[in-house]
Amino acid sequence: MRLQLLGTGAAGGVPLYGCTCPVCQAAATDDRLCRKPCCAFLEHRGETILIDAGLADVGRCLPSGDLTRILLTHYHPDHVQGLFDLRWGCNTTIPVHGPDDVEGCADLFKNPGILDFSTVMKPFHTVIFAGLKVTPVPLNHSRMTLGYCFAHDTSRLAYLCDTVGLPLFSLDFLEAWQPNHIVLDCCHPPQITPPINHNDITKAIGIAHDFPQSSLWLTHISHGLDLWLQKHAHTLPSNIRVASDGLVIR
Ligand SMILES: [Zn+2]
Ligand SMILES: [Zn+2]
Ligand SMILES: [Zn+2]
Repeated sequence: MRLQLLGTGAAGGVPLYGCTCPVCQAAATDDRLCRKPCCAFLEHRGETILIDAGLADVGRCLPSGDLTRILLTHYHPDHVQGLFDLRWGCNTTIPVHGPDDVEGCADLFKNPGILDFSTVMKPFHTVIFAGLKVTPVPLNHSRMTLGYCFAHDTSRLAYLCDTVGLPLFSLDFLEAWQPNHIVLDCCHPPQITPPINHNDITKAIGIAHDFPQSSLWLTHISHGLDLWLQKHAHTLPSNIRVASDGLVIR
C-alpha cells in the first residue's frame, strides 16, 4: 500500500490569493511550500484509487486512463472540483464511491459523464478492493463526511478529512483498529473558541494523545497554521508530522 498526498491545503490553498503574510509570500516563489486542496492517490496491487479530487486538473496529474476508482470523503467543492473536468473524459468509466448525499455538488449527479456514482459507501461496512480492506467511518463536518480506513496484512492507514474531533463510534472503532498512520484534517492554529468543521492544532494534539502508537500526518493546512508552525512546530508531540504536497506514505 502506497499513499501519495497530492494536495494538503485548506480550501483556498497556499499561497492564498491576495495574502501578503510571510507564508504566502514565500510560497509564491517556492513550489515546495505551496499547498493545493486535499487530494490523495493510493496504489495497492494494481488498484489505483484517487481519494477526493481537490486538484482542479487532477486528470492531468495521473496516468491517463489508469484510475480504478475514486473514493470521496464528501461533496464540498474543495474535495470534488477536479471531477468537473475529469467527467468529460472518454473510453472508460470510473466508479466513484462516496457518502450517501443526495445533493452531491452542483450538476455532478445530473451530468456524470464517465463517472459512475451508483455505489454509496456505508459507515462501518467494509469493502475489499484487490485484497485491500476499506472501512468507511463517519466524521464530524458540516455535511455527511466519511473517513476511510485502509488495511492489508498488518498495514493500517486511516484518512480522516474533513472533521473536527471524531464521533464516538468512529473513535471507538479506530482505537480497536490501531492504525499505523493517520492522515488527519488540521486546518487552524490554536483557536480561542472551539473550532467548528475542522480541527485546530489543539484538537489534533488531543487525537495524537489518543493514538500514541500511530504517526499522525496533518493535512488540510491553512496559511494561518503554516504561520503558527514556523514558530511552534518543535512543540508538537513526537507522533505528529506535518504533511506536504507530494509526500509518500508506505
Ligand atoms: Zn497568507
Ligand atoms: Zn469540507
Ligand atoms: Zn475541505
